[in-house]
Amino acid sequence: MWSRGLLQQAVRHASNIRQAGVLFDVDGVLLRGGTVIPAAQRALRKLVDRNNKFMFPVVFVTNAGSCTRHHKAQQLSNKLDMQIRPEQVVLSHSPLHMMESFHNKCVLVSGQGPVTQIAHTLGFQNVITIEQLSEQHPLLDMVDHSRRPTHTPCSSQILPQIQAIILFGEPVRWETNLQLIIDVLLTNGRPGCAYDTQLSAQMPVLACNMDLLWMADAPSPRFGHGMFLVCLESVYKKLTGRELEYEAVLGKPSLITYQYAEQLLRQQNQNHKLSTIYAVGDNLMTDIYGANLYNRYLAKHHTETTGGNKLVAQGTQAIMTEEEPPLTAQCRSILVCTGVYNPHSPLPGDQNISEMVFHGQKHLKLESALVEPSHVVEDVEAAVDLMLQQESSNT
Ligand SMILES: [Mg+2]
Repeated sequence: MWSRGLLQQAVRHASNIRQAGVLFDVDGVLLRGGTVIPAAQRALRKLVDRNNKFMFPVVFVTNAGSCTRHHKAQQLSNKLDMQIRPEQVVLSHSPLHMMESFHNKCVLVSGQGPVTQIAHTLGFQNVITIEQLSEQHPLLDMVDHSRRPTHTPCSSQILPQIQAIILFGEPVRWETNLQLIIDVLLTNGRPGCAYDTQLSAQMPVLACNMDLLWMADAPSPRFGHGMFLVCLESVYKKLTGRELEYEAVLGKPSLITYQYAEQLLRQQNQNHKLSTIYAVGDNLMTDIYGANLYNRYLAKHHTETTGGNKLVAQGTQAIMTEEEPPLTAQCRSILVCTGVYNPHSPLPGDQNISEMVFHGQKHLKLESALVEPSHVVEDVEAAVDLMLQQESSNT
């Protein structure tokens, strides 16, 4: 246990520029269902000063995505009883904010919750929802007999050609979204037309949160967005014989999510680079794999840049620029035992698990080294103690 005095000593740098930053996963680390894990409040208290301001750059990274960052920040602030700003939150779709080349394109969005508002806050100006598309083209959605039109409708409004598809999360009416997304893909963005069998290129698809399953209150896991994507890919392949390609895959364990989180940490650090990022999570396959993969990327980046080459992570071409400042030196993964991870079950080693977990991310492979945390601790308070201890011994 660390006393407040020791903690203050640990962070007693002359300026408020820090060498270390922290990424916290939310579910299973800070919250369990709607309840705050008791260690979370104690942990966060150790990271703030007398004015309740964080003494280190801190970002909360979650694969949730059916709300805006403002909403999530508000929710976390209320639950954890401290001020958390939207700029401290990374949701699965947040890195889309950096993908400016898509912001002025006409995009179709799929998911639930305030999808149009989410898209607008991310910078997209020209957004069409599945509901708008269905309303404009009532002959397309034919599964639910009760929703079929009783007479031939006449179009009143012509929607612009769709240029990209953004899959935020699992929709409510899977059959409607599957049908209309396929219609958009196979007509090159003009779903009122017949399928174009000569289509040579597929329009860009950006997918957030590939988790196949998630744990709710039911005895067994529930379908996640990844399961919806399995259906979409399968239908697409059945109809075209080709694999559905993703322009980008966002959310943990994707590199792009960690790159974005690092950018936010650095902004809190007055744009100074950090030497270490501590990533605290409860899931080996997302939090630990993601942090370790990012650490490997950082190591490669340092090697490559000293060799004069530039390394660009898969799916990040659209966001990385030549002017990017030097990256963090390392990312340490800390596994806690208050969520998904059960210290009594063996580590996964089966290829099927790899297939399940890294669905849609063909470049990711299950490697035992990547699911091995740098540290395993009881809870998030122990994780913060460990980080403060390491940082104090580095000064
Ligand atoms: Mg979690």
